[in-house]
Amino acid sequence: MLDADFFRRWMTATAASVDREAERLTALDSPIGDADHGSNLQRGFTAVAAELEKEAPRTPGAVLTLAGRQLISTVGGASGPLYGTLLRRTGKALGEASEVSEDQFAQALRAGVDAVMTLGGAAPGDKTMIDALVPAVDALGDGFAASRAAAEEGALATTPLQARKGRASYLGERSIGHQDPGATSSALLIAALAEAHGE
Ligand code: ADP
Ligand code: MG
Repeated sequence: MLDADFFRRWMTATAASVDREAERLTALDSPIGDADHGSNLQRGFTAVAAELEKEAPRTPGAVLTLAGRQLISTVGGASGPLYGTLLRRTGKALGEASEVSEDQFAQALRAGVDAVMTLGGAAPGDKTMIDALVPAVDALGDGFAASRAAAEEGALATTPLQARKGRASYLGERSIGHQDPGATSSALLIAALAEAHGE
């Protein structure tokens, strides 16, 4: 079973990873965006970690809804509302339980990813965070390590794609040949999940 402490570890591991990788994320956002993805997420997840320490929410659902709310209020770019929606919707789907099974979490994360697709209008293959998140959720039934591998593969597979959503889509064919920053940060988020689980 997964408890509130597990979800807190997921968020703090994500904050640490985003901190380490901020420069790389911003560098990826430079040829096909506006070079702010790393700093956006660094600001957001630093705020998430600080708020979780302050408020210490007691249920998995409360941890994720708090994190999502923080991202929405602190990240300026497109990714703030999208990641915020992902975590808030996943948290809402977990309800009030003090512990959730891995299956329940997989279903909740699926609801979160669906909400991101509804909000942003992106489908798999559009060269966005969805290209890492959908494979990650699809593989979650095989465990956290499998999910991490699928997310990483999905992020790498965005390189030859042409962007159809977000800022990178303004570049048309010139977006081809660059790995998507949001898919890359989504792979970090899922890697942190495996890390929080001890894998
Ligand atoms: P901004 O584009 O506002 O500068 P960021 O640089 O923080 O925001 O985030 C860019 C990332 O957000 C992209 O690499 C992409 O993965 C993701 N993204 C942008 N628009 C969408 C969308 N409509 N749906 C899903 N993901 C999106
Ligand atoms: Mg940007």
